[in-house]
Amino acid sequence: MRILVQKYGGTSVMGLERMRLVLARVQKAHVEGYKLVVALSAMSGVTNRLLAQAREFSANPDPAELDVLVTTGEQASVALFSMLAKDAGLRARSLLGFQIPITTNSNFSRARIMDIDTVRVKAMLEDHDVLVVAGFQGVDCNGRLTTLGRGGSDTTGVALAAALEAEVCEIYTDVNGVYTTDPNLCSNARKLDRISYDEMLELSSQGAKVLQIRSVELAKKFNVPVRVRSTFTDDPGTLVTLEDTEMEDVLVSGIAYDKDQCRITVRNVMDRPGVAASIFAPIAEAGILVDMIIQNTGRDGRTDMTFTISRANLDKTLAILEHLRPVIGCEDIQHDIHVCKVSVIGVGMRSHSGVASTMFTLLKKENINILMIATSEIKITCLIEEKYVELAVRTLHDAFGLSEGPAKACP
Ligand code: ADP
Ligand code: ASP
Ligand code: MG
Repeated sequence: MRILVQKYGGTSVMGLERMRLVLARVQKAHVEGYKLVVALSAMSGVTNRLLAQAREFSANPDPAELDVLVTTGEQASVALFSMLAKDAGLRARSLLGFQIPITTNSNFSRARIMDIDTVRVKAMLEDHDVLVVAGFQGVDCNGRLTTLGRGGSDTTGVALAAALEAEVCEIYTDVNGVYTTDPNLCSNARKLDRISYDEMLELSSQGAKVLQIRSVELAKKFNVPVRVRSTFTDDPGTLVTLEDTEMEDVLVSGIAYDKDQCRITVRNVMDRPGVAASIFAPIAEAGILVDMIIQNTGRDGRTDMTFTISRANLDKTLAILEHLRPVIGCEDIQHDIHVCKVSVIGVGMRSHSGVASTMFTLLKKENINILMIATSEIKITCLIEEKYVELAVRTLHDAFGLSEGPAKACP
């Protein structure tokens, strides 16, 4: 059985006309002899509207009920598309996460997939042409509905492709593939034909929402070829795949930015063993992801601790820190939400130096102050003021020669 997994995002399923385009793609693959598993997102804007509605009803919505609410977006998409597919003569049916089941842990709103019952799915594929699976959702071992984090339908698609050993996982979206930077921010962004899993992991983790980071982690782990392409054009898109020597020649392959950032500084905490643990352990226990961390050099037995988190977690984190004040003995807790991360990414950085200093020089030329710096083997990230994000992305993109072709040397 030749199995193809396709995932369609929110803009691709928004309304009847667009769903007809999806149907045409599904029919084409069916005629080519594939059995299809199609994962769908909620229509564009639906998940946001449901989340906003929940906040009208409750200042602090119960996480389990919130997941029950937001899964309805995908439920509507799969039901409507299955109707369309059946009317077109395909043997199709919808499947919600719990019906497969896609079993997850119980971390509501950001659950991780633990298991997918492939025996059942394969059995269902025997007498169906297309199974239409609700993206973004699963069920925990207590039978409660869960969701996989924003953008989680990508992960549903890749997890299904891995579990079913599909030939490829096609991710259909509103742009032609993965670009050197967000094409909606930088008009001369260039589409990449291929990108390595590691570079895609960094792009996703640094804010390029074209693929959810967990989907890339799974694709890398199970070696699933992922093709990102547009529902609306015939462009072959971008293949996310294993790194090869040709890719290593490329110094910088992309620029990412993430506006969902917030910087917190805890001033004058005691500079003694255990202080970092006292601050970050309760934050981690509350399920809050901390990104960049800087501890300043201590003076007179005191130091400052600065870190970044997602804006949605600001109030929760400040409340935790207030509670900790007597333990860590801090003088002041400051925060700034008008910050943004900009990252330069490329596997070539493993073997070439100079990218960081070039990035700092380029930002300096535009008079952009760097607030924090973080690096990995293949990435340099700077936290800057949010108002400079477009200028920074365009400057770095052009200076690293990404519009003309991949940069092979530092500018
Ligand atoms: P979908 O609803 O199909 O899942 P998303 O909105 O989640 O689509 O992701 C697609 C969007 O990702 C694009 O419209 C684009 O603005 C954004 N994006 C950010 N960085 C990149 C990049 N490097 N390449 C392509 N798209 C990017
Ligand atoms: N509907 C969910 C979201 O908006 C999941 C997805 O579209 O991938 O985040
Ligand atoms: Mg998405």
